[in-house]
Amino acid sequence: MATYSHSRVSTYENCPYKYKLQYIDRKKPEIPTTIEAFMGDMVHQTLEFLYKNKKFKKRVAKNILIKFYRDSWAKNYSDDILIVKAEKENVGADNYRKMGEKFISDYYDRMKPFEQMTILGLETQDRMTLPDGNQWHIRIDKLGCDNKGNYYVCDYKTNARMKDQEEADSDRQLALYSVWVKDKFKDAKSVKLIWHMLAFNKDAISERTDEQLKKLQQEIIDRIKEIENAKEFPTNVTNLCDYCGFKSECPSFKHQAELEKIEDVKKFKEDEGVKLVDEFSEVKTKLSELKKAEEEFKVNLIQYAKQFDIDVVYGSNKKCSVKEFDKIVMPEDREKFIELIKKKGLWDDLSMVCYPRLNSKVIKGDIDKEISKMLDIVKDFRLSLSKRKGEGEE
Ligand code: SF4
Repeated sequence: MATYSHSRVSTYENCPYKYKLQYIDRKKPEIPTTIEAFMGDMVHQTLEFLYKNKKFKKRVAKNILIKFYRDSWAKNYSDDILIVKAEKENVGADNYRKMGEKFISDYYDRMKPFEQMTILGLETQDRMTLPDGNQWHIRIDKLGCDNKGNYYVCDYKTNARMKDQEEADSDRQLALYSVWVKDKFKDAKSVKLIWHMLAFNKDAISERTDEQLKKLQQEIIDRIKEIENAKEFPTNVTNLCDYCGFKSECPSFKHQAELEKIEDVKKFKEDEGVKLVDEFSEVKTKLSELKKAEEEFKVNLIQYAKQFDIDVVYGSNKKCSVKEFDKIVMPEDREKFIELIKKKGLWDDLSMVCYPRLNSKVIKGDIDKEISKMLDIVKDFRLSLSKRKGEGEE
């Protein structure tokens, strides 16, 4: 049985290929961390320092706390930390450092004298056994309780987006931690999940019923089963790729990473892949221009034929027949139309096999076995051209 965590399962959900590299092949990312993650880490360490001192009844003044943060930053910062927004938005490490400082300062002012709860644990780590026998990794930033049997699972968030109530109520990470709390602390009357949204100096709070937690555990078990049965791990290109440390090993970015190493423009243009895509793109542009020209010729030929009341126009070597015919236009309400066809008993006679739906059902194994046995699955390629990132879509 393996150990899973919220971050492991989320990695699979966001990009199965990254999951394979990180958790199956156990590769190390070429980029150690991003500036967002680094700043989050420094803020976490600083707030841990604050509450650790509080545990020993030592009050930390705000200026001392900020100094701790600045010193930790200086000690741990390295130049290989990725700053995605550096070029695009001219944002540097110092801006992130100042942001973190503001988060800590605001949090300090809002929460002092830090008596909201009795602290039970900071950066608490443990494992809990899921009903399927797999282990789930627990890591709670701040765990606390009060004398009324309320427990608090708190998470510091440094994201630039506020978590709304719907998101808080559907968050998986803290909800699963509340299963662990209920199991560990039998006197727990309630477990409140609190996200300290530091960029907004606000909290998002949620609580789950036992029934919701049972359902959530089943969803996690199903997802783990899906991960363990996965045979293919496709890439999933999204905005998150900008923050991925495996870009140079990823099939969707490997060629780009190779090209970035070439400084000479001439050599860049000589790259076999660059040449193929440039020429393919040229051919596609010509084809679309030709398609447009074909439509214009059609219109002109129809006009010409109508003008001289003829239905064949003669050229030097070829002739073009221009025949008028009747065709139907499907009604806007297709469903109603299909219903009517079925009602009139004409469906079998008029319907066709819907290839995309059949394809998807067969690939997913979501169709009668007798039908799928009659079909072969072969590999094919779909090629699509688009502008490279930052140059707009084509
Ligand atoms: S760069 Fe994007 S697609 Fe490639 S592995 Fe990373 S997340 Fe997946």
